[in-house]
Amino acid sequence: MKKFLTDMHTHSKYSHDGQASLDEMLATAQKLGVDFYGTSEHFDYDYDLTKLPKEELARITNSSPEEYFHGARHLQEDYEGCMNVAVGAEFGYSDDEAVQGRYAQTYEKYRPDYVINSVHGWKGEDFARYDFGGTSKTELYRNYLRLVRRSLDAPYPYDIVGHIGYIMRYVSFEDRLIMLEEFGEEIDDILRAIIQKGKILEVNTATKMLPVRSLPDEAIVRRYYELGGRQISYGSDAHFPERIMDKRDDVVEMLKTIGFTHITLPFRGEYIKVEL
Ligand SMILES: [Zn+2]
Ligand SMILES: [Zn+2]
Repeated sequence: MKKFLTDMHTHSKYSHDGQASLDEMLATAQKLGVDFYGTSEHFDYDYDLTKLPKEELARITNSSPEEYFHGARHLQEDYEGCMNVAVGAEFGYSDDEAVQGRYAQTYEKYRPDYVINSVHGWKGEDFARYDFGGTSKTELYRNYLRLVRRSLDAPYPYDIVGHIGYIMRYVSFEDRLIMLEEFGEEIDDILRAIIQKGKILEVNTATKMLPVRSLPDEAIVRRYYELGGRQISYGSDAHFPERIMDKRDDVVEMLKTIGFTHITLPFRGEYIKVEL
């Protein structure tokens, strides 16, 4: 039986950190035989609160939603009949109400085919640049997980919960992993809310140097299944063509071992199930 290949978390030059044009990304995806490709460009309104210098902020936030949706919708049409392209967005969550309002407006105006809601930082600073000071690992991760939990209550539409555990990429603790044993209560809280709200848990393979296959890692994905969670998404978080579908086979193996039978694809409010 032909496998149905999906990758619902990718970026192109429409994102400030994308390294290839959407044209190039789509051409590679098609060559790789992707059946359903999601482009989820960054919308980083959480940076509104940053203390970064103006020029740096402009560099990060200068991508134009107008241009993106216009250009991506054209390409979506061009590919009709040979590859399903979903024109989505990745919203960087913030507790700030003004930021949340901007996401709601963007959603209303451009109607992305789907939205990934992700936590990238605190108070307008991405964890990549955040000064964690002397905060202990327990306190830091507990605060992070609570922020992820609050992101699930975002007052704008979203479908996928992005890369839980992202903070681990940027800390310097010797043992950086968020262990289910230590943070079980916070993690269960998150997973139960995802299930109760009918959202989709993402398995993201952009783990950089971390000693895990995915974010979140297998133990947390397994716990989600145990709690009754069945809606799963796979995303490479590719920012250049060579990473499209990276480690997808490994993830599918892992999901099957746990007991999952389907990937769930969000598209314009519908959740399409495809066999793993
Ligand atoms: Zn992200
Ligand atoms: Zn991303």
